[in-house]
Amino acid sequence: MNLVVCLKQVFSTEAKIRISPDGRAVSDEGVEWVMSPYDEYALEEAIRIKEATGAGTIIAISIGPDRCTPMLRSALALGADRALHLKDPMFDSVDALGVARALAAAIRRNPCDMVLFGRMGVGMDQGVIPAMVAELLGAPMAGLVVKITVDAEKVRCVREIDGGSEVVEMALPAVVTAQKGLNEPRIANLKGIMAAKKKPLDLLTAADLGLAAPDLQDVRLVHESYELPAPRTAARLLQGDPADTARQLVQILRNEAKVI
Ligand SMILES: Cc1cc2nc3c(=O)[nH]c(=O)nc-3n(C[C@H](O)[C@H](O)[C@H](O)COP(=O)(O)OP(=O)(O)OC[C@H]3O[C@@H](n4cnc5c(N)ncnc54)[C@H](O)[C@@H]3O)c2cc1C
Repeated sequence: MNLVVCLKQVFSTEAKIRISPDGRAVSDEGVEWVMSPYDEYALEEAIRIKEATGAGTIIAISIGPDRCTPMLRSALALGADRALHLKDPMFDSVDALGVARALAAAIRRNPCDMVLFGRMGVGMDQGVIPAMVAELLGAPMAGLVVKITVDAEKVRCVREIDGGSEVVEMALPAVVTAQKGLNEPRIANLKGIMAAKKKPLDLLTAADLGLAAPDLQDVRLVHESYELPAPRTAARLLQGDPADTARQLVQILRNEAKVI
């Protein structure tokens, strides 16, 4: 079974979010970049499928600048067989559709049975790229998947839906997005880290993928502005015995918060 996993680099959850002075971008100054957590589930699932079926190749793909290389190396250390780093100045101003077109072009050149994504790239949270790629590839897609069972011709997925779960079956090749609960991602061991150094990590440009400016510069979504949530006011600690603090609380709710 040949599998492709699409990996996006995102801000670490520890990162302090700052907005650029013009309000139109989120500053990445001094930020630590990590693999999007939902993509970790997608990668882990690909490794488990390969281990269970005992054959095939896992290709990890990421679009982004040089900082993506260590993330792709860590995907190789965890169990991917090959990595494709899609890097080109033309990718610097694409929107989600441009990312999807580039991913679909890379996947078409590396036909596979299943493409695994995270359910969304943490941070931007759009959750649109997997559906776009599925459409471009003409493949069926199941999102928010928490269990995968696969055979030579089809994949059966348990999807998380409101208040329950749903089971769907798709003919291969198919696209799947990973939801939390799909698995528990492993940590790379020393043997994997050493092996990763010898695994192929190929750089591909837009031209290598047969993409030209019109495919990538047709930007349909422009980030207008960003705003941080209002800072939280400090907590107030009420002092006194229970009857007294209850009286104070009622006064605050009535006179200051005006909610009763
Ligand atoms: C270098 C670069 C510059 C960009 N500049 C702009 C810009 O100026 N304006 C703009 O609107 N958008 C820009 N984008 C696109 C933007 O950063 C996001 O990719 C897009 O908005 C969708 O993000 P998302 O995380 O919400 O995607 P989602 O649809 O939530 O992502 C879902 C899944 O798709 C896969 N995926 C997403 N992104 C990638 C990736 N890069 N590589 C591999 N797999 C991926 C992952 O599996 C991820 O879990 C740029 C992207 C890149 C790579």
